[in-house]
Amino acid sequence: MDSGELVPDEIVVGVVEECLAPGGPLSDGFVLDGFPRTVHQAQELNRVLDGRPLDLAINLDVPRDIVLDRLAGRRVCENCQRVYHVNLPPKVNWTCDTCGGNVVQRDDDTEEAIDRRLELYEEQTVPIIEFYRERGMLAQVSGIGEGDDVFKRLVQVVDARRCA
Ligand SMILES: [Zn+2]
Repeated sequence: MDSGELVPDEIVVGVVEECLAPGGPLSDGFVLDGFPRTVHQAQELNRVLDGRPLDLAINLDVPRDIVLDRLAGRRVCENCQRVYHVNLPPKVNWTCDTCGGNVVQRDDDTEEAIDRRLELYEEQTVPIIEFYRERGMLAQVSGIGEGDDVFKRLVQVVDARRCA
């Protein structure tokens, strides 16, 4: 992961499979964030679900330049993992507001690793958008703006689907 590569499918799918198994911790319903990332993973997810329907696939759409700025400026608390940005740092000298831990740049947020991740996204993740669109499951949500605003948009899309 430090070099920007994705975690191998068998590991990710194995974790998902365990959690989604009938009687497993997520068998009553779930939201998957950042999975699936490849068409192969999407196919594996269908296999794991074994006929149980997925309600919705959401593409959180953010232009490349904004993604770059968010990732390159991201800083994370080593202790509690709280996320900051160089434009929105902790109050005191890169010490976490929540727990007092050191706030640092993650090893996988270097420029090289970010470029590699965006390249992988274009190659491997973009085709999933079509995969779910073809199946009538895709919702596009703008990821631009403050977290609260994006969250509201997400809730609207999920509510609209639940009430449909
Ligand atoms: Zn912290």
